[in-house]
Amino acid sequence: SPASTSPAPVTPVVITIARPSLESPPGDEPLLRVHPFDEPVVDAMNLGITRGDGIFETVGIVRGAVHGVDDHLQRFARSARILELPEPDLEAYRAAVELGIEHLGDVDDAYCKYVYTRGIESRSWNPTGYAFLDANPDWTKERTTGIAVVTLTRGYALDVAQTAPWLLQGAKTLSYGVNRAVLREAARRGADDVVFTTSDGYALEGPTSTLVLRYGDHIVTPSPEHGVLLGTAQLGAFAFFESRGFSTEYRDVRADELADAEQLWLTNSQRLAAPIHRLDGRDLPIDAELTAALNDSLRRRRS
Ligand code: PLP
Repeated sequence: SPASTSPAPVTPVVITIARPSLESPPGDEPLLRVHPFDEPVVDAMNLGITRGDGIFETVGIVRGAVHGVDDHLQRFARSARILELPEPDLEAYRAAVELGIEHLGDVDDAYCKYVYTRGIESRSWNPTGYAFLDANPDWTKERTTGIAVVTLTRGYALDVAQTAPWLLQGAKTLSYGVNRAVLREAARRGADDVVFTTSDGYALEGPTSTLVLRYGDHIVTPSPEHGVLLGTAQLGAFAFFESRGFSTEYRDVRADELADAEQLWLTNSQRLAAPIHRLDGRDLPIDAELTAALNDSLRRRRS
């Protein structure tokens, strides 16, 4: 038969978690169950679907190794606290990801999204948990040529997480309708992605990414105290920069400071570091060598 160089197609997999919370009632069913990707596993009245009332994480998996697994689990627990959900069983989620990797097979670059919802409306208030895994799309172009970005307001002041915690800023909730809507607005403006800004003039994060800025030998990211997620890829980026002698800092970043940065990236667990080549219509230089080394380091990262 003719030699083929294309990899075998990946079959996505779903793992359901029977008792995703430390407070889940005991039961006889196995904790984890493997399902084909197209088998429905969630009830139509699940609050994750009907209200977006729940949380999730997306982790990157390179050659079977989960990146930043503990950072993701800690952020998951923090999101659950902000939403006042019963405490999730982090070890059950860790095991679900590992089982999913076994079933996904030999994939170079994959991701796992795991979900935790408040349960089924008016029938059972027991949380629902599951994970699904698939091959990661190819992000080579975004990681090398970069992305065009526009700044768009999130409409809140910088201190919203402190003054109005019920708005759930700083939690990775399932309510990502706004995070998708801003991408459609960006596309209308000819851009690929967005940096959210506050009503009082600060830069925050992307709808699915963390903003990382370089000023000479100094690397900055907006402070996670102010309603942005602590990015796990950004933590990996800081480790990379520190190993190369850069200093790193979390601080409030004014939107008008973006123009002075020598290089900007948006980082996340799937796309890794995407350099910004245009911001609000202004072309920016890309340090291709530094960006390639950063992405290489993020890909090689272990837990
Ligand atoms: N900020 C938001 C709003 C996100 O949704 C994400 C990830 O999807 C990030 C930041 C980056 O987080 P991580 O680097 O852990 O993927």
